[in-house]
Amino acid sequence: MSAGASFDVVVVGSGAAGATAALRAAERGLSVVILEKSHKFGGTSATSGGVIWVPNHQLSANDDSREQAEAYLGALIRRPVRRERLAAYLDAAPRLAHWLKSLGVPLQVATWPDYYPDLPGARADRSLVCETFDGRLLGDHFLLMREQYSRFKVMNRYAIDLAEFFALSTQAPGWQWVFLKMAARYWADLGTRRLGRRDRRFTQGAALMGHLYWRIFARGVPLWLECALEELVVREGRVAGVVASRFGRRFEVEARRGVVLAAGGFEWNQALRERFLPLPGRIYHSSTPPHQNRGEALLAAEALGAATEHTDSLWWMPTMDLPITAASNFEEIHQAAFDVGRPGSVCVNRNGVRFANEAASYDEFGAAMVADQLANGANAPCWLVFDSRFRRRWTAGGLLPSILMPDWKVPRDWWDHYLFRAPTLAELAAKIGVPGEALERTVANMNEYARTGVDPEFGRGGNAYDRMFGDPAQQPNPCLGPIDRPPFYAVPIQVGDLGTKGGLAVDAAARVLDGEGRPISGLYAAGNCAASPFGDRYPGAGGTIGPAMTFAYLAVDDLAALAR
Ligand SMILES: Cc1cc2nc3c(=O)[nH]c(=O)nc-3n(C[C@H](O)[C@H](O)[C@H](O)COP(=O)(O)OP(=O)(O)OC[C@H]3O[C@@H](n4cnc5c(N)ncnc54)[C@H](O)[C@@H]3O)c2cc1C
Repeated sequence: MSAGASFDVVVVGSGAAGATAALRAAERGLSVVILEKSHKFGGTSATSGGVIWVPNHQLSANDDSREQAEAYLGALIRRPVRRERLAAYLDAAPRLAHWLKSLGVPLQVATWPDYYPDLPGARADRSLVCETFDGRLLGDHFLLMREQYSRFKVMNRYAIDLAEFFALSTQAPGWQWVFLKMAARYWADLGTRRLGRRDRRFTQGAALMGHLYWRIFARGVPLWLECALEELVVREGRVAGVVASRFGRRFEVEARRGVVLAAGGFEWNQALRERFLPLPGRIYHSSTPPHQNRGEALLAAEALGAATEHTDSLWWMPTMDLPITAASNFEEIHQAAFDVGRPGSVCVNRNGVRFANEAASYDEFGAAMVADQLANGANAPCWLVFDSRFRRRWTAGGLLPSILMPDWKVPRDWWDHYLFRAPTLAELAAKIGVPGEALERTVANMNEYARTGVDPEFGRGGNAYDRMFGDPAQQPNPCLGPIDRPPFYAVPIQVGDLGTKGGLAVDAAARVLDGEGRPISGLYAAGNCAASPFGDRYPGAGGTIGPAMTFAYLAVDDLAALAR
């Protein structure tokens, strides 16, 4: 890399938004560089599920339509949003998908109900995933792409795709074969084993980012790691580059056409959380890579007068802390997205009462935790309470089921700190500081709901999304099972996140807007750096990466039009 370098487009951040911008720019014949602050590229996106929400994608024979998707978003979104951005998304997301397909990116349609399946226009075929990718194709970059957390791998080691995840996590028939195949493939790969532990089989977000970066590198796009945006440079009334720093050395990179900010959100900046969020929470409960996304791009744009929108909300995710196996002084975050709604469990606040449908989407459940905490001050954390039947079968955040990790194998220092156990509900309640009678009443209600199959309070298990993560063998309602087999357990569940929903105000072409709603010339933002087009709502699986990639694509097309 050289000081004083000049490109048509400077992309800041190497996640899904940044990668899409870079690939699109290269395809449109623009010279482009990616600046990435970290020593690894790929961002949160590479650690993610890699699911992309694309309504009306027309990649399979289905009857989705723009109108149907519009009806769904219309019913879903509750607050004022920029309607022209929604329209741009509905128009461009299918184009993005077809463009990726034309480049050979193997996108597939996943069966995944939209997160509000009862709303008009909802469907179960709008989520796209990428086939696995052979990471060794990245050559020297193989080990430099951000790795999925080992806790998202089987036995901290084997990469897992979504089909395998569902098979193993629900212990579907034949799950043992799925596991054996995965392990055999890994150990038979002697060449990669010599390089280290990393699985060459990139799955989920790693697969998506692998497929994108393979094509980016093939087009000769430079990626500068350890290279952080510090300031934006303005010349003659337009953003003309950035000041970046690398190991303390500051230098300027010229952007002849414009800068695309794709540097993620601000979830790892506690001061920005305090400034924007009604319930700031803690950075440490975020499930995104630690200390990466700190809102630096947002602050740099604000210094030029950029406005922000929807900054009061995160992509919520219930999470749970556990010490890491190798060093008990250090904790790591585990997502509990699907565990909180499994049969044989209930979530209560510190008053011992329920506050939400636990089987709803993780975003909806997290938002309910926040609302309950703001209303009653008795949430965040809440408690996931379950019995020994649940304990045997399901994960609870990072706690493996007892068929894999029986109680005697649980490290001693976890008990009464991370995991609580008691022979009766009353004793469990005393241990976790929840009124015993209230907890007993809540559990008695749940047992009655399990018998009837109807949750009259919150409708748990009442729609296709809820049931996707339930147990089909549990009848009459796959999400409601009795909680009656002692001992009883509880784990604290935190208000975590997948990143921030709000960010820089942008228009339909991803141009950053100032306080008067005027575009700041030469400045674009996409991904969590920009405000979500959906306001505070999360429409379906892939609802963050879908817009991230679509608006990155639109930003570059706008820049390319300028170039002409
Ligand atoms: C476990 C997990 C699973 C998820 N699964 C899904 C899913 O399946 N579908 C979905 O839609 N969403 C999912 N999400 C959320 C999704 O991953 C993020 O919302 C999305 O990846 C954000 O993409 P991005 O490009 O905006 O940011 P990121 O991917 O976070 O990339 C931002 C990059 O910018 C870099 N950066 C930050 N500051 C600077 C700076 N000053 N200078 C230079 N670089 C900088 C960061 O280091 C980072 O590499 C998941 C999240 C997690 C944690």
